[in-house]
Amino acid sequence: MPKLLLANARVLSPDALSAPFADLLIESGRIAAILPPGTRVDDAATHDARDRLVIPGLVNGHTHGHGGLAKGSGDKWDLALLLAHAPWISGGRGLEEKRLSTALTAVEMLKKGCTAAFDLPFEFPAPTVEGLDAMAEAYAAVGLRAVLAPMVADLTFFQATPGLTESLPEPHRARAEKMRAAEASTILDAIRAAAKSWRHGANHIALGCAPTIPLHGTDAFLKGCSALAAEFGMRMQTHVGESRFQAAGGEIRYGGATLLEHMDRLGLVGPWFSVAHGVWLTRSDLDLLAARGGGLSHNPGANMRLASGIAPVRAAIRAGVTVGIGTDGSSSSDNQNMFEAMRLAAFASRLWEDAEDEDWLGTAETVRLATQGSSQLLGLEGGTIEAGRPADLVLLDLNHVNWAPLNDAANQLVWTEDGSAVRDVMVAGAWKLRDGKVLGLDEAKLARDAQAAADRLRAANAETRAWCEAVAPHVACHCRALAKGWTRSRRLLRAE
Ligand SMILES: [Zn+2]
Repeated sequence: MPKLLLANARVLSPDALSAPFADLLIESGRIAAILPPGTRVDDAATHDARDRLVIPGLVNGHTHGHGGLAKGSGDKWDLALLLAHAPWISGGRGLEEKRLSTALTAVEMLKKGCTAAFDLPFEFPAPTVEGLDAMAEAYAAVGLRAVLAPMVADLTFFQATPGLTESLPEPHRARAEKMRAAEASTILDAIRAAAKSWRHGANHIALGCAPTIPLHGTDAFLKGCSALAAEFGMRMQTHVGESRFQAAGGEIRYGGATLLEHMDRLGLVGPWFSVAHGVWLTRSDLDLLAARGGGLSHNPGANMRLASGIAPVRAAIRAGVTVGIGTDGSSSSDNQNMFEAMRLAAFASRLWEDAEDEDWLGTAETVRLATQGSSQLLGLEGGTIEAGRPADLVLLDLNHVNWAPLNDAANQLVWTEDGSAVRDVMVAGAWKLRDGKVLGLDEAKLARDAQAAADRLRAANAETRAWCEAVAPHVACHCRALAKGWTRSRRLLRAE
């Protein structure tokens, strides 16, 4: 790859507090040097980045590629209702639908200024080598970096949630009792086979492992996931304490221990591990997570959409937890817009009833969480524009109305920008988006294929959907009652 000089740009500083003029020399996929404006580099091609603000690519700390085909599937759903509807939202997928859904998710992220994602894809009933290969190929075509961590469980939602099956009237109870997740060994063997044959590292796509929700795994299964991750050096991520009914369910299942304490006892929590959401983590959970070197992906859009609450982000940062920001999947949030995720994170931090002013997330800090923080969750060294770092860069059009006038880069990145000023994106020094167009695939064909797939899935999943809709009110009723039994976490956090 020849040397490239991005000339005449404004470049966001590593602390995100300023955006001075500078030229960036890109070589072998990395930022080779940050030069004074107008420096001549004879052996480099020049890209005139006049009227552009260059920022590090945003990094999505938590999403689900399989959500791409499911965007806009629900309205007044909390997490319990989302889980009740999951069989039809994500069901009936063949290999092409898996590839397509991931491509949709990746394209939306790229066009909205994101260069890497921690993706927890779901395959029913168990992950497959072909499915994971197809999803990795979709990421490679679009050009994002990714950790692809199959979202797995050996218990169904009905088995996992204390008292849920028993609360259902017949005939729903009989049907719920008959539902089974795949065997633990089937799931673990599939991930092992994928890890052994993994060939996507050169495209910056790593395999991970995501036991989806602690309650949805037997202890033996959770330990099996942990052992696999250790054997192959995989990153792990789990939805922990996303919703209050889960925190309550954990206390019942684990004899008073929290969800995270239980996972820690089984050996899952370490520097390779991050919590997704963490809305209902306790103060001692945050200390535990920090002590183990673990991370947290804060996903405020999904938390608001599903009425889950607001994660204790300031307390997590104070405790020493590595915090990133994510969108969550399009079945729960429903876009893949990291600018919006930053905005909501900063807004949400202001809604703590008794927060002091300095507890709020500032704009520069929020940008750093969505770049450097999320990068750490993925095990990446990027997220900042400094010599030697990967050239994962986003060029924003300063002539766009979002930037006219430029008053303060960080404030406008978080408060004003919505992705519509993103013009060009490069990953590892290679252009993936030019003048708003994805280079790696045909976007018009993608849209046609997506509509055809959605129509096909709607028909194929109609019977499943009808059952989910019938059982959903009973699920909601039980889970809301369960949640009421959990009172300790956030009140304690606020009082301390
Ligand atoms: Zn999620």
